Amino acid sequence: MRKRLLCVLLAAALAASAGCSRYAAAKEFSLFAMDTLVDVTLYAGERGAVDREQAIMSGAVSSMEKALSVTHEDSDVFRINREAGRSGAAVSGETIEVLSSALELCELTGGALDITAYPAVKAWGFTTEEHRVPSPAELEALAAQIDYAAVELEGDTVTLPAGIEIDLGAVAKGYAGDWLARDARGNGITSALLNLGQSTIVAVGSKPDGSPWRIGVVDPARPENYFAVVELEDCAMGTSGGYQRYFEQDGEIYWHILDPDTAAPARSGLASVTVVSPSALTCDGLSTALFVMGLEEGAAFWRDHPELDFEAVFVTEEGEIFRTAGLEGRFSLAEGYTDREVTVLE
Ligand code: ADP
Ligand code: MG
Repeated sequence: MRKRLLCVLLAAALAASAGCSRYAAAKEFSLFAMDTLVDVTLYAGERGAVDREQAIMSGAVSSMEKALSVTHEDSDVFRINREAGRSGAAVSGETIEVLSSALELCELTGGALDITAYPAVKAWGFTTEEHRVPSPAELEALAAQIDYAAVELEGDTVTLPAGIEIDLGAVAKGYAGDWLARDARGNGITSALLNLGQSTIVAVGSKPDGSPWRIGVVDPARPENYFAVVELEDCAMGTSGGYQRYFEQDGEIYWHILDPDTAAPARSGLASVTVVSPSALTCDGLSTALFVMGLEEGAAFWRDHPELDFEAVFVTEEGEIFRTAGLEGRFSLAEGYTDREVTVLE
């Protein structure tokens, strides 16, 4: 095993000369849970760790699915929703942990992130891909039912008023990413990339040669391209954008990120938001929230919340690029985009 790993590392070192190029992986596998494909690439680690990790991660992800999936009958989240208007559902410690973190972000973002947006997400057909545009009256009724503050958490019991349903989808990938990365580090993996659904990526350690991972940021106007590269080392990055999931009707585009105030797709003037933070859950939740807030409010939020330890890249619908000052030295424009102007938010 050690010999094989050394060969892999040697190949990786050779590949490194090609800049942003891919390394030969010690182990690569995919897991599927909560509608998300998780691509794991382990590049280096203690002897044996690389081989052990696949079974551990696959077990962990399926237990998260059983707890957090909104569609998996008998999941904690499913039972919480089913018991709405009744005496509540007792759930696992893990579910309480994700729920508490999510509710904290809902509160900090003033409800731009709201885990009770689920009935509205369903009404637009984003859960079934049978898309439709609800009437203004329906939207008004849906918006009135979005209220994370109505979620009651007492011990291990979660209670919802009738008509309210939760979905932890906006933070679940981040939670899973943090869990898997922590597990990998704890088990002796020194270099790995976890790609959750293409929108959340977690870097464990650095590249096998010790240099930071270089991760592309998708151009929302041409999602097959990366407009920028962010360097990550033991750090996560998450992007939310209208281009990720949407449908078109009568010449109008409707995307999956909803403004909890209107229950309709958030039109804040942004095309995408990328968040960089040691916490993947923060990246996941805040990218959604900042997308709803828009550039000005989002930048103010960044200034007001240094304790959340995050940086951000905003792209407007006009294609203007803004990034926060803390990305200095870690952010660069990608090939083909080097003539673009980047405004630094201080
Ligand atoms: P995805 O998880 O699809 O990559 P996000 O992390 O941006 O994208 O989360 C968006 C998902 O969360 C939507 O698909 C929807 O189910 C739900 N959602 C939409 N708007 C909100 C919102 N304002 N707050 C919380 N969840 C939302
Ligand atoms: Mg998100």
